[in-house]
Amino acid sequence: MREKFNKFMYGRYGNDELNQFLFKLVIGSLIISLFTKGVRYISDIFYYISICLAFSVYFRMFSKNLSKRYKERDSFLQYSSKFKTKQSQKKLYAFFKCPSCKQKVRVPKGKGKISIHCPKCNVDFIKKS
Ligand SMILES: [Zn+2]
Repeated sequence: MREKFNKFMYGRYGNDELNQFLFKLVIGSLIISLFTKGVRYISDIFYYISICLAFSVYFRMFSKNLSKRYKERDSFLQYSSKFKTKQSQKKLYAFFKCPSCKQKVRVPKGKGKISIHCPKCNVDFIKKS
């Protein structure tokens, strides 16, 4: 049985971080669908989403187009690491938009009322961080 499976999986992509992430989404949408049972459309929509996601997990797992799968994995890892640094920055910094030029300005969090200097247009504005 195991040998047969190994033979079947030979040359196929298998599992990776993106699939694990997708699988979590499958479980998540299934749970939402269960909890919204009886709510018209919403429950069905999440049910179909979970089926589509499960399908793409299996599709990627059994895919023989390895280079394409590796590319997907790379862009997923890049995106998720960007997201993670953003999340950790959110703990340390507060972000404000300059009122005159809309430039995003980053300041340390928890300093109370501070005067922020926009590096782009040199306007000063006061915010609570
Ligand atoms: Zn500005």
